Amino acid sequence: MHEFSLMQSVLETVEGTARDAGAARVTVIRLVVGQMTEVVADAMEFALEALGPGTLSEGAELVLTNVEPRSRCCVCGHEFKHDRYHWSCPACDSLATELLAGKELYIDSIEVEEYNT
Ligand SMILES: [Zn+2]
Repeated sequence: MHEFSLMQSVLETVEGTARDAGAARVTVIRLVVGQMTEVVADAMEFALEALGPGTLSEGAELVLTNVEPRSRCCVCGHEFKHDRYHWSCPACDSLATELLAGKELYIDSIEVEEYNT
């Protein structure tokens, strides 16, 4: 499952960052996910629930920011937004288009709780 390996590497990165910051636990994980990556939010939640226990991210809230796909037409230069399945140019019908946004997949930020000492 795509989301499982993805969440695994997200958690590894988050874990390292949180430990470096001396955090007691991670409360929020924010990810930016382009629609063209075909990552399913529910599957990501499920993966976090399955992989979270035993890590600092156990019980963390997952916030996904969706990025709409955007492309530029190679023929007429028109820039446009589209969904996952339609990327032909609305101005000239060309299928020769270049994806500008929508394949993002990265950790935007995390929120942590510090030890009360
Ligand atoms: Zn065009």
